[in-house]
Amino acid sequence: MSTNKPMPAPTDISAPFWDGLKRGSLTIPRCNSCGHWIFYPRRHCDKCWSHDVAWHEVSGAGSLYTYTLTRIPTLPDFADEMPQALAVVELDEGVRINTTLVGLAEDEIRVGMRLKPVFDRVRDDGSTLLRFTGTDKTITPRGQAPATEQPASPAPAVTVVKVPLSDEAALQALVSDSFTPWSNEVVVDQALIDEFARLSGDDYWIHTDPDKARKQGPFGGTIAHGALVQVLQSRMKIPLGFEITGFTNMVNYGSDRLRFPSPVPAGARIQARARVKRVERLKSGTQLTLEVHTHVVGAERPSVINDLVILYM
Ligand SMILES: [Zn+2]
Repeated sequence: MSTNKPMPAPTDISAPFWDGLKRGSLTIPRCNSCGHWIFYPRRHCDKCWSHDVAWHEVSGAGSLYTYTLTRIPTLPDFADEMPQALAVVELDEGVRINTTLVGLAEDEIRVGMRLKPVFDRVRDDGSTLLRFTGTDKTITPRGQAPATEQPASPAPAVTVVKVPLSDEAALQALVSDSFTPWSNEVVVDQALIDEFARLSGDDYWIHTDPDKARKQGPFGGTIAHGALVQVLQSRMKIPLGFEITGFTNMVNYGSDRLRFPSPVPAGARIQARARVKRVERLKSGTQLTLEVHTHVVGAERPSVINDLVILYM
């Protein structure tokens, strides 16, 4: 995830809630005078005004009171969470909590559905956010390793058809107007962008200075270099569904077209898909043009369009 996201700032009153989340437990204040559960955390009971309140651990079991799906990030740093299921969850104790739903497909979300808490450790310092998921879901906690070192999702499994280079009809049959399913997702965080800036020498502030980019840049934060997003194609395993066989040599012959139609904000998750645009027999060999589109996850418009030319000899 983006390392630039705003984080909660615990106060004297709310600190027990945030500390509880770090331990993987949900704690809520309750009024000792009238028994009313209180949320958000306050110094007093919002029912009887008593100041005699105490913190209690609760199970976190609850139901979905309402939700909305947001597809446009309010800040670029949240692009990696799109579409985001913003929700109000009513705990069995009766209090309602603003949160986000995770691990649920859009069509699985129903008002009234039963939910359980997810303690999402978002920072190495232990900072944890409270999210919710379906009671039948298993959410793997975030690892300690930097996000860029592990794909955000596994590559999808797909049946691979072997196509001999000599089989003209089979080669032409690969040409298609429709794209493959999506690849695995890759997180483009600030650390990766900084590394690319160092390697390439392109350390322009729109890529490398989150503070200045937030205040002065057109995107409300830093963005990845187009060239970085393009080369990250290698980290995205596109389920092509075919494998050409029977050649002696295969070379990446370059690109017929390379466009960067929309930016990738720092922290975004990207994924790619492709289609075989054409297959041509040339003197030099057989040339396959693969149209690769890389998108920020959930974004309609691609961030990179690359008509990759592969030459088989
Ligand atoms: Zn009370």
